[in-house]
Amino acid sequence: PIKSSAASDVYKRQKMVTVLDGVAAGGGIAIAPVYRLGESRFTVKAKYTDNVNHEVSRLHDSFSLARRELTDLRRQAHQKMGEKAATVIDAQLAIAKDQSFEGEITDAIQRYSTTAAWTAAQRIDHYLNVFKRQSGGADYYHSRGLALQDFKKRLLAHLLDEELPDLAKLDHRAIIVAHQLTPTDIIRLNPHLVAGIVTDLGGRTAHFLVMSKEMRFPTVVDTKTVTEHADDDMVAIIDGTHGRVILQPTPQQIDQYQRLASRESARLRELGVLKHQDTVSADGHHFEVAANVALPRESDELATSGAEGVGLFRSEFLFLHQDTLPDEETQFQAYRKLLLAANNHRVVVRTLDIGGDKQLAQVPLERENNPFLGLRGLRVSLAYPGLFRTQLRALLRATAYGQLAIMFPMVATVDEFQQAQRMVDQEKNRLTQEGIPVGKEYEVGAMVEIPAAVAMADQLAQYADFFSIGTNDLIQYLFAVDRGNGQVASLYQSLHPAVLRAVKQTIDCAHAEGKWVGLCGEMATIPTAVPLLAAMGLDEFSVPLSQVLPVRSQIRRLKVRQLQPLIHQALAAHSPAEVRALVDQLTSHMK
Ligand code: PEP
Ligand code: MG
Repeated sequence: PIKSSAASDVYKRQKMVTVLDGVAAGGGIAIAPVYRLGESRFTVKAKYTDNVNHEVSRLHDSFSLARRELTDLRRQAHQKMGEKAATVIDAQLAIAKDQSFEGEITDAIQRYSTTAAWTAAQRIDHYLNVFKRQSGGADYYHSRGLALQDFKKRLLAHLLDEELPDLAKLDHRAIIVAHQLTPTDIIRLNPHLVAGIVTDLGGRTAHFLVMSKEMRFPTVVDTKTVTEHADDDMVAIIDGTHGRVILQPTPQQIDQYQRLASRESARLRELGVLKHQDTVSADGHHFEVAANVALPRESDELATSGAEGVGLFRSEFLFLHQDTLPDEETQFQAYRKLLLAANNHRVVVRTLDIGGDKQLAQVPLERENNPFLGLRGLRVSLAYPGLFRTQLRALLRATAYGQLAIMFPMVATVDEFQQAQRMVDQEKNRLTQEGIPVGKEYEVGAMVEIPAAVAMADQLAQYADFFSIGTNDLIQYLFAVDRGNGQVASLYQSLHPAVLRAVKQTIDCAHAEGKWVGLCGEMATIPTAVPLLAAMGLDEFSVPLSQVLPVRSQIRRLKVRQLQPLIHQALAAHSPAEVRALVDQLTSHMK
C-alpha cells in the first residue's frame, strides 16, 4: 500500500481545480492561501423608539466616531500610499462632516420617533437610489454612491454596536477574496501580508483599485463568483496581468506559475529601478524617453510612469466624444493640468490633428475622395482660424505653468509652418496686450510625417524649434500604402532603408541648425529600431506609457559608439530583413 504522505494529502485536498477569469487589474502573479473578507450585512430590527433624545445623541456620537476614524484612515492612507490615495477617503469624510445630512436624519428621528439606525439606513438608501438613477443604474461604482455605501456600513456598525469586518485582523500572508472592497478596507490591511486581491465585483475603474495599484498588489476583479468558490486557507494562484484565478491548483500549475512569477518579478524589479534614473547608454550618451498621452487616465499616470515628460499629447482627444468644442478656458485647464503632472519636464502638445480617419462632429468637413490626402492636421487649423486661435490662446496661457512645446501636425511646407507660427506670435501679442501672462520659454515645432517635409527638412529646421518624426504617417506616405489595407500592408515596412534614410536626413538637418529631434511614432518602440535611432543621434523617444521603461532599459544596454558603423550599413541595405540581420549582429553582446 502507498503510504499517505503530507504532500499527497495536500494534493488530495487540492484536486478540485477551479479556474475563473476576471478583469486583469495588474500587479503580476501571486500564489498564497485565501483569506475571505466577511460581508457586513447589518439588520436593523427596531424601527420605533420611546427615547428620541437617546437616539439623537447616539446618532451624533456615531457621526463623530466615524469622523474621527475616517480622519485617522486618511492620515494612514497618506502615510502608506501618498496623497493621491488619501484623497479617495475625502468623499466619505465629506459625508461624515455634512452637517445638513446629519441634521436631516436628526429631524426625521424627532418627527417620527424612529431609531437612529433605522432612520439613518432609510435616508442613506434613499440617496443611494438617487445616485443609482443618476448614473443610469449601470455604474454601480459611481464614486459618490460607493463612498456613501461604505459610510453606511461604518455608521450602522456604531449605531448597532457591531464590528466591521477588518482587514487589520489578517495575521498571515494571504490572497484577499471579497465580494467587493472599499478604499477603507485597503488602508486597514498590512501591505506586507497581502499577496493579492480578488473580488466578485468591479471593473477597471473600481475605486479601491486606485489604491491597490499604488501598492502594486496582483489584483483580479469582476470574477463574478470567486466568493462562492473560495474558502479560507485554500491555495490560490492569481495572475493580475491576464485576469486569471486558479483555486486549488495542481502542483504542476503551482510550479509553472512560480517560474513565471520569478521571471516577471526580476523584470519588474529591473524596470522599477529605472524609473528614477536618467536614460544614459552604457557608454554615456544621454537620451530622453517621453510619453505619448491622449486619454485623461494617461495624464494621471504620467507622474508615476518614469516618463521624462510628454513627447506627444494628442490634443484632439479633448475634442472627441463631446457635443461642443472645448472653449479656451477648458483647454487651458487641461494643458495646465498636464504641465503640472509632468513635473518640470517638457510637454509637447500637438495642435488639433483631425481629418483623415479622425472626424469631429463639431467641425463638419466636406466629404473627400482621399481623406488621407485631403484636409488634415494643420491644414484644418489654417482653414478654421477661429478654432486654431482658441487653441493657441489656451496653450500660450498654459506656458506660464511649465515647459510647454507647441507642435503642428502634418506640416508639408515651410510656408504653412510659418503661417501657423505667425498666428502663434499674433495671439501671444494679443494676450500680452490683454495683460495675460505668457511664459517666455516655450518652443514651437513641427511634426515631420509628410515626405515633402523630410525633403525640405534643412529649411524647415531654420524656423522650427524642434522636430518630432511621426513615422506612423510618414511610412504610409513614403510607400503610398494604407496600412489598414490588407492587400498592400506588407509594403508598410518600418525598418526599410527608405524609412531609415528619411529619419536620418531629418535628424541631421535638425542638428545642423542646433535643434532637437524626437520620434513619436510606433517605430520608437520597435526593439530593432531603437539601436539604429540611438546611433543616428535621435534626442527623444516618445512612446506609449507602458513602453517607457522597456525602451529606457534597452537604451541603457547600448554602446552607441560601437553602433556607428551600423548606420552606413543599414542605409545601404536593400531590405528590412538585411537591416534586422545587421542590428542583431551588432547588438548581440548588448542584450
Ligand atoms: C504619427 O503619425 O506617427 C503620429 C505619431 O501621429 P498619429 O499616430 O496620431 O497620426
Ligand atoms: Mg500622424
